[in-house]
Order: sequence, then C-alpha cells, then structure tokens
Amino acid sequence: MGKVLVVGAGGVASVAAHKMAMNPDIFTEITLASRTRSKCDAIAGSVKARTGVEIRTAGLDAMDVAATVALIRETGAELVVNLALPYQDLALMDACLDAGVHYLDTANYEPPEEAKFEYSHQWAYQEKFRQAGLTAILGSGFDPGVTSVYATWLKKHRLEAIRQLDVLDCNGGDNGLPFATNFNPEINIREVTAPARHWEAGGWVESPAMTTKVRFDFPGVGEKNMYLMYHEELESLSTHFPEIERARFWMTFGDAYINHVTVLQNVGMTGIEPVIYEGHEIVPLQFLKAVLPNPSDLGALTKGKTCIGDIATGPAKDGAGEKTYYIYNICDHEECYREVGSQAVAYTTGVPAMIGAAMVAKGIWREPGVWNMEQLDPDAFMDMLMTQGLPWEVHELSGPVNF
Ligand code: NDP
Repeated sequence: MGKVLVVGAGGVASVAAHKMAMNPDIFTEITLASRTRSKCDAIAGSVKARTGVEIRTAGLDAMDVAATVALIRETGAELVVNLALPYQDLALMDACLDAGVHYLDTANYEPPEEAKFEYSHQWAYQEKFRQAGLTAILGSGFDPGVTSVYATWLKKHRLEAIRQLDVLDCNGGDNGLPFATNFNPEINIREVTAPARHWEAGGWVESPAMTTKVRFDFPGVGEKNMYLMYHEELESLSTHFPEIERARFWMTFGDAYINHVTVLQNVGMTGIEPVIYEGHEIVPLQFLKAVLPNPSDLGALTKGKTCIGDIATGPAKDGAGEKTYYIYNICDHEECYREVGSQAVAYTTGVPAMIGAAMVAKGIWREPGVWNMEQLDPDAFMDMLMTQGLPWEVHELSGPVNF
C-alpha cells in the first residue's frame, strides 16, 4: 500500500509532502489537496525541485464529504493524512469511512465555537472504524505524537509503569519579528489562552492561563521560561496509562510573546465568539490570524533550536527502585529550512505525520479502530525517527523533577 492523499497545504503539510517524496519506496503516489490549490501547486513545485518526485494536486473543501470521497476514489488513495485544521477532522473521518480508507491526523477535533481540546468527538468513531476494518491514528505530530510514543517506549523498555510524566516543549528559535506564532495562529492562540490544566491524583487541576512559570535548562538550547498549559495528549495519556499519578505539559514562551498575547486577550482580539463589525459577523481571533505573519513564511527567518521531550518517573524494569528518564529531540530551524524549506516547528510535526503514515502504509499500525499514538507499538516508529531527521536521546536523571 503506498497511495496517499494529504489534505492541507500549510507548513506541516509542506514538510510531510517533502518527506514522503524522499521515501518513494513507501509512498508510491502522493496527492496534495487543500482549499487553496495554488498553495498545493507551490509545494509540489518545491518537492519536484528538491526531490525530483511529481506529486498531484487538487482543490478540495474538506468539509465537503462527498467531494473528498470522490477525490479518494479518483486518486486510489488508501490513506488520508489530515494536515488541514482540527475543524476538518470529523468530515475527513466520515469521508474515510465512506471510501473505505485509513485516516491519520495531528490535532484533535474541535467545534469552532469551543476550545476544550477533548478527544470524545473522535473516540466516538472507535466502533465505526473497527467494524469497517479501518485504522484511524490520532495525533501523529510531535506533541501529541512523538512525545506520546516516547512515553510508550519508556514504558516498554525502561519503566514498569509511569508514575509522573512531564512533557516539555521548548522552541528556542527566534524569527526576529515582534510577534508571530510558529504554527496556525488561530489554533496556537486558542491553546495558550485556555486555562492551564494538569492531571493529578485521578482528577484535573485547573489554574489560570500562563500563571505557572518554571525556568528550565533545555539541552541544546539553554535556560528558558516554560509555562504550565493544557494540551490534548494529557487526556489520552491519563486514560491509556491509568497508573499515572501526575501528568503535566509545559511550553516555553519569551516575555515579548506573553506581553503580546496578554494585550491581545485584554482588548478582546483572541475571542472566538462572533462580533458584528459594520454589518458583518467576524470572529476576532480569525481576523487576528489574517493580519499576523503566516507561519509557513517564517522558515527563512528563524534561527535556533527546538528541544521537545518527556521526563518520566516510575519503578524501573530492572527492579532497581524508582528511576527518572529524560527523552528528547533537538531540532535546528536552519537545518530544517535547508532540507525542506520550513522551520523546525512545522518540521517536527510534518516528519512524525509522515512516519505515522509510513507505519500504516507498511502495515505495522493496522489494527482496526481509532488509536492515540501511545496505544501503538513504539519500536518501528522510534527507529524511523532516528533515520528521518528527528534523532532522539534518552538519559537517566538523578531523581524526579522538583518543580
Ligand atoms: P496552516 O494553517 O498553515 O495550514 C492549514 C491548511 O489547511 C491550509 O492550507 C488551509 O487552507 C487548509 N484548510 C483549512 N480549512 C480547509 C478546508 N475546509 N478544506 C481543505 N483545506 C483546508 O496550519 P499548520 O500547517 O501550521 O498546521 C496543520 C495542522 O497541524 C493543524 O491542525 C495544527 O493544529 C496541527 N499541529 C500539530 C502539532 C503537533 O505537534 N501535534 C504541532 C503544530 C501543528 P488555506 O490555505 O486555504 O487556508
């Protein structure tokens, strides 16, 4: 199986398309479809120039299930890789069920008028995919995605159980602009302005957004402030690893970013409720997205590194008491730009999307049903990370985190 339909033509889709083209033994035919076809054509041009591989392009509104089914049938795709926006997840899952093909995405479904980041909408498809004999993989980016697979790998090879888990996402890159988000601004700002929430002692602990700050020395990057946030994988990890006593997610932000978001939030520009402006309904956050820099244009400007990983503590497999491991990847913005023409945030999401798709294409992840990444065997995915541009390291720490 090697025919794939990639939906979306943003920064993440561009990286995934390039990396798929670099693996022609796995991906024999690639079609790239999105709302704005010219963006697909631009990516196809870059893929051709860098790899010599031709990819097909098409215009598609992914909310139109019948149009997606027709395109799947026409291209003969056996897997849909959804790199559009979370709002398209359910329509694309419906199209996959109708057309009888597998599904993969990088972000959980959300109705546009909510910012709750819940898996319930997609988990409700479990029985439909199982009965159809089809596989749906949820969250095959870096976080969720690689960090979830890291946790499973630690549990398979180092720890009997995970008692504490901290996911640490550091972007030490600088694009020189006063304010820009490094992936879709609407999704990014919805995430960071939502209340922080972490899992502790069997329940959720909520705190106001961006109020818990810790300074941490990231390998390859140095000291940065990271903030406690809610992130969707906390729900799936605490569900699938019921032994977890505490699970938290941290992301680094510079002071300038925090100041901009605070002002934008205070003046109402991050709102997701429509307002009437000169007789038209507009959603403030969508308008803000329209005036902010496009993340896929940041590649040439961004310098520095990302470091994303997990710190996990639990009883060691070797019976030597409790142990703590830090497992992470360091990725260089400029190296990513040289390789595929994108910055590291798109790269660290697009490469795992390609690897997840490869796991399905190769039949390694083909259990019928709807799966989060931590539910699947980690080994082949971890091997491919090493060879496809996201090598990882694992180190034992002297004890559990003290923050
Ligand atoms: P972009 O906004 O750059 O790209 C989204 C693309 O989807 C655009 O090309 C857009 O088209 C297209 N699109 C939107 N609506 C539709 C529609 N109805 N039909 C067809 N195409 C549509 O986003 P990114 O590339 O930055 O992010 C892509 C996804 O990756 C997002 O879901 C994001 O949340 C996720 N992500 C996941 C991460 C992880 O680690 N798991 C990290 C970063 C991102 P148009 O150009 O016409 O607007």
